Amino acid sequence: MKKQNKFYITTAIDYVNAEPHIGHAYQKIIADVLARWSKLQEKEVFYLTGTDEHGQKIARSAAENKKTPKEFVNSLAPKFENSWKLLNIDFDRFIRTTEEDHKKRVREFIRLMHKKGDIYKGQYRGLYCEDCEAYYTEKDLVDGKCKFHPHKEIKILTEEAYFFKLSKYQKKLLELYEKNKKYILPLFRRNEIINRVKAGLNDLNITRLKENVSWGIDFPLDENKIVYVWYEALLNYITGIGWPDDKKFKKFWPADVEILGIDNGWFHCVIWPAMLLSLGIKPPKTILINGFLTFNGNKISKSLGNVISPKILVEKYSADSIRYYVCRNFVFGQDGDFSEEILVNRHNNELANKLGNLFSRATALAEKYGIEKTENKLLKKLKLKQIKILFDNYEFDKVLNEIFAFLDICNEYIQKNKIWETKNKKQIYEILDSLRVIAILLWPFIPSASEKISETLGFDLKFEDIKKCLDIKKIRKSEILFKKL
Ligand SMILES: [Zn+2]
Repeated sequence: MKKQNKFYITTAIDYVNAEPHIGHAYQKIIADVLARWSKLQEKEVFYLTGTDEHGQKIARSAAENKKTPKEFVNSLAPKFENSWKLLNIDFDRFIRTTEEDHKKRVREFIRLMHKKGDIYKGQYRGLYCEDCEAYYTEKDLVDGKCKFHPHKEIKILTEEAYFFKLSKYQKKLLELYEKNKKYILPLFRRNEIINRVKAGLNDLNITRLKENVSWGIDFPLDENKIVYVWYEALLNYITGIGWPDDKKFKKFWPADVEILGIDNGWFHCVIWPAMLLSLGIKPPKTILINGFLTFNGNKISKSLGNVISPKILVEKYSADSIRYYVCRNFVFGQDGDFSEEILVNRHNNELANKLGNLFSRATALAEKYGIEKTENKLLKKLKLKQIKILFDNYEFDKVLNEIFAFLDICNEYIQKNKIWETKNKKQIYEILDSLRVIAILLWPFIPSASEKISETLGFDLKFEDIKKCLDIKKIRKSEILFKKL
């Protein structure tokens, strides 16, 4: 099989009706870990993230804040973008769905879908959750209420609308799930979705009456309508890389991984691939569904104030510590609780004591006694194959367990051999070389610390270098990697 040399990853684009929080950040971090893992392997990576800026809910929040919708989203979108930068998330584009370029490409998509005969005009009557901006059927509701907004009344709406012939794609979707077993991950999510698709699909209302919802993209087939916000937001994954004509689209599509929360699952696993199939565009390779976080045992919501702000958390704990904590502490795909207490413990015991101490001890020994290049036999104890398999299965907690098990072996090696007494230059080299490998493997998780190690010792962060015993070029006592909290 031809080696795949590109990696295109997208995240959910966040709905900007409130400030960014750690729940949004979690998903962006995981995407960055995957992007950096691909960069280590010298793949060309494109990482797309951004904000979803249309729809009724935003218009309403804007009015509450005495702003126009445009002013309102302009005040919030940069906060999302800056939060990801503070967390060292190395995205390639931050797309906003209010950009003219996105709007133009969305209208083009609709015109083409219409030409394919997949859009028709009809009457819509349905159960509508204003907070989701989504229609539901009876069986989607729990006790007559939205699953995600149990305190919100469900409305019954009737209106003239345009429909996407989603029902036409039931068989093709089931074939897609069957053919690509990794299309929806984790697997327990896959079965949920497949069972719902088997139960039957309704055509999707893709417009809203302008008189009810005016903050959106003009629907190109009817001036009295705007495009349903969900429909156009999904298109960001292709408009963001210049569909249909840009060479970026030709190079990077289909997306290798699209990561999102389960509240977006139905749209991404069912509606999105059907939209693409309608125009003969390949669906993404994998839809990866992350769990939800609570914060110190509480549901994440505005009422927690700014303690859940990524910016505040980075100032308090540093980007590396937060990134490390969420990857090590949670089983990806499951829900988890972001506990500041556990974060501090892990920072102190694992990053400061284990990694930080190994680094400062090893560099101090090297500076004092020098090194002598030799075959690094310690590396035989590193389970590299296992780490790769775990990474490909999105088991980030286990990847870190393996890397830290190897770190423990290195720390024990110094103790057991009393290197500070024997001054054995070959053993000091082995420790430094092992640290080199550890820094490469940890780079997707804690890029700042890994880069400090690589700069101190003078090596490149490349996956293919792991097995080579390299010259350690610079030897100097290190600065402290992690201060204890
Ligand atoms: Zn809802």
